[in-house]
Amino acid sequence: MNLLTCENLSLGYDGTVVLQGLSFSVETGERLCVVGENGSGKSTLLRGLLGLMPPLGGVLRKSPGFRARETGYLPQESAVQKDFPAAVFEVVLSGRQNRRGLRPFYTKKDKAAASEALGMLDVADLGKSCFRELSGGQRRRVLLARALCAAEKFLLLDEPAAGLDPIVQGDLYRLLDSINREKGITVIMVSHDIEGAVKFAETRTGRILHLAGRQLFFGSAGEYRESDPGRQFLGKTVLGKG
Ligand code: ADP
Repeated sequence: MNLLTCENLSLGYDGTVVLQGLSFSVETGERLCVVGENGSGKSTLLRGLLGLMPPLGGVLRKSPGFRARETGYLPQESAVQKDFPAAVFEVVLSGRQNRRGLRPFYTKKDKAAASEALGMLDVADLGKSCFRELSGGQRRRVLLARALCAAEKFLLLDEPAAGLDPIVQGDLYRLLDSINREKGITVIMVSHDIEGAVKFAETRTGRILHLAGRQLFFGSAGEYRESDPGRQFLGKTVLGKG
């Protein structure tokens, strides 16, 4: 089922376009990796998909399955998040805030979803721990559990592996792989870890979208490796210049 389609979409701030010519689509159960250098428009695209900024041109069509309040969003890690003075379970449960609406309390269903998400990310035993005392890798898993708890079907992740050591990064990609493959959860992920992102997208349902203020490439990981932007960008990373 088609989840979202962009046709010649432009996005920007205060009427100034920073991203243009976007024409791609995402189907349910796919994993889309959005890559590009700093300032290429990756976070802007996520904000646009979330409906946080109106298109400046073109069309963005979203299926009813892609509603902002049912989307799990993992933003880039901020200092404020690191110091969040709450227990892990509360942090995960807060992912249900959008669904809670005007109800003053979380329901049993909300709490069950939070427990399930913690279990899915192998951090069930951390429920009572203080969030700010966790390691970087544990914090990322907990925030991913929070996003999952909000979404259940759909995840938008902004640089989920940034700042983690390579072993923890590998664990995180494996986890995302099983969430997508086994649970059928659609993943849209922004990353400047191009090698990691391309490996992650190397499945039947994987797609790469390469941005540079416009769309340089959209297609499978295999096609990307053969394309001009793919060769150029992957080559750069291998040489350690990217
Ligand atoms: P990336 O996520 O790939 O690093 P961004 O989407 O953050 O790129 O930025 C794309 C462009 O939009 C950059 O030129 C950046 O300066 C500009 N930009 C980002 N956020 C804002 C904002 N809030 N107001 C105005 N310009 C912005």
